[in-house]
Amino acid sequence: MRCGTAVHGAPIGLLGGTFDPVHHGHLRPAIELLERLGLAEMRLVPGYAPPHRRPPRADSGQRLRLLQYAVAGAPGLVVDARELRRGGYSYTVATLRELRAELGPRPLCFVLGSDAFLGLASWYRWRDLETLAHLVVMQRPGHALRLDDELAEWTTARQVFDPAALRGRSSGLILFQETTPLDISASRIRRLIAQGRSARYLMPNSVWECIANEGLYGYPQI
Ligand code: ATP
Repeated sequence: MRCGTAVHGAPIGLLGGTFDPVHHGHLRPAIELLERLGLAEMRLVPGYAPPHRRPPRADSGQRLRLLQYAVAGAPGLVVDARELRRGGYSYTVATLRELRAELGPRPLCFVLGSDAFLGLASWYRWRDLETLAHLVVMQRPGHALRLDDELAEWTTARQVFDPAALRGRSSGLILFQETTPLDISASRIRRLIAQGRSARYLMPNSVWECIANEGLYGYPQI
């Protein structure tokens, strides 16, 4: 089903993730999509307990604090902590339902990297996502988009090539949007820190300073 005839307002973007910790591979694409898609804002939505992976290393309060440092002074980037407040498994479909109820027919763009998109068909009630939001997929270095038959067919039927199309309806379209390729991952950052190496410049300095000050991810405490 494709939703939305009368839509009002610029789209809202959502980038969900564990953000354990947030890094430039999240932030630079977020800003680029904000501008290229003409979003009213890009919300970074940290998950409490991701259903598909091990629990985050840093606790909710720490990850939230790092995100707040990351977006401070960046117009249009906003932290939305609803999944942390809700607790339990952070199902995207539940978050999008809440937002849809709050925002009415305004277009919602759920943003995900190619690695996450490749696993979409394993998400809880993934086929409902299109009734709630558009999907915007950014290519992540090292995660070529080789879709299996089911996801390829589903995608082809919904794919658009012009970002302007996302403004004309509330949900239901898929856009692959180029962003600056940054081969940065939170797991590599955690590994570096645990090995006593520097992860500086892979994230905003304020985030790095907070990790160091609070001794997160095994940062050596003096
Ligand atoms: P980890 O290494 O712990 O798995 P991560 O770096 O992948 O973490 P997440 O918080 O899991 O970060 O990612 C949130 C979202 O951001 C996902 O949709 C993911 O695909 C995307 N993403 C993360 N890093 C990048 C990157 N370097 N380039 C593009 N997209 C990214």
